[in-house]
Amino acid sequence: MPMIGVRLHGPRTLKVEQLSDPKPPGKGEVLVRVDAAGICGSDLHMYLDALIGDTKLKAPIVPGHEFAGAIISTGEEPLSEHSGLLRPGMRVAVDPAQPCGTCELCLRGHPNLCTNLHFCGLFPDGGCFCERIVVPAKTCFSLPDALDAESGALLEPLGVALHAVSLANVKPGDSAVIIGAGPIGLLILEAAKQAKMEPIFVVEQLPWRLHLAEKLGGIPIDSARTDAREKLMIQTLGRGVDVAFEAAWADQSIQLAAEMARYGGKLVLVGISRDDRLAINHSTARRKGLTILLSRRMKHTYPKAIELVESGRVNVKSIVTHRFPLVQTPEAFELNADYRDHVVKVIITNP
Ligand SMILES: [Zn+2]
Ligand SMILES: [Zn+2]
Repeated sequence: MPMIGVRLHGPRTLKVEQLSDPKPPGKGEVLVRVDAAGICGSDLHMYLDALIGDTKLKAPIVPGHEFAGAIISTGEEPLSEHSGLLRPGMRVAVDPAQPCGTCELCLRGHPNLCTNLHFCGLFPDGGCFCERIVVPAKTCFSLPDALDAESGALLEPLGVALHAVSLANVKPGDSAVIIGAGPIGLLILEAAKQAKMEPIFVVEQLPWRLHLAEKLGGIPIDSARTDAREKLMIQTLGRGVDVAFEAAWADQSIQLAAEMARYGGKLVLVGISRDDRLAINHSTARRKGLTILLSRRMKHTYPKAIELVESGRVNVKSIVTHRFPLVQTPEAFELNADYRDHVVKVIITNP
């Protein structure tokens, strides 16, 4: 039985196609019906440039890695460490990362840095903008009743945000600035609130995103209409903040983040640079003795993310502005990449 899927063929070229159904799940695998999938900033990089960092699109693939759905069928021994034996009908969120579990980094407890990593939607592995996908059972987390598929799909970016904050090893009362109020920046705001960071400034140039950041408890700094650095320095009495998170497109924003960090402070880089360059004045970082941390995806964050959403402490859906059915994925990407219609987070649904 063929299925509908969306494949990226080149820059700004997404096509809705009839694809062959995934092969039946093998040992330790499950077939998942994708009910909700989020468009991520990294998907937009791929969409615009057919390239992310130094990973090029070499043949058409189905993109997408933020998703949740229901199990259709299982292979033998469909065991998930967190959710036990998986059964058809179970609703799950899927961690898109498939670390090998045996390399040095995996063994040292850093599966996010696995050197043999497979990742949904990253060439050559197909992703979630399709009706069905086979994934390892161990990457599935069963969803409590309080989480629908959309919330399940948002656990992935929330996990990325939780990891970024935990990397900075913050103490309650540490101050923060977040550069960029896109989905990841806004979820870092949520994660920073959970870590009791205070105050939390958010720098953004798009007014509707800045407004949302303010609604979620951030102190807004408009970088389009004011000198953001000066504004932050006035508000921190010239000190700067303990931790500066960069969650934009990692261009001039890295330098801005470095300028906003205090002497001896930390810089956490989460955004992905379009030209694959990390640009920062050496003198800024050196004089301040900054600790620069590069955040790579996440590790062990799904259970924590589920708990935060289930308990109502984080409302992940507050960042969702658009929902499109699977067949309109190309339109959804276009709107998102062009920042039209006050877009923040787009979810693709599979009716
Ligand atoms: Zn993502
Ligand atoms: Zn590994």
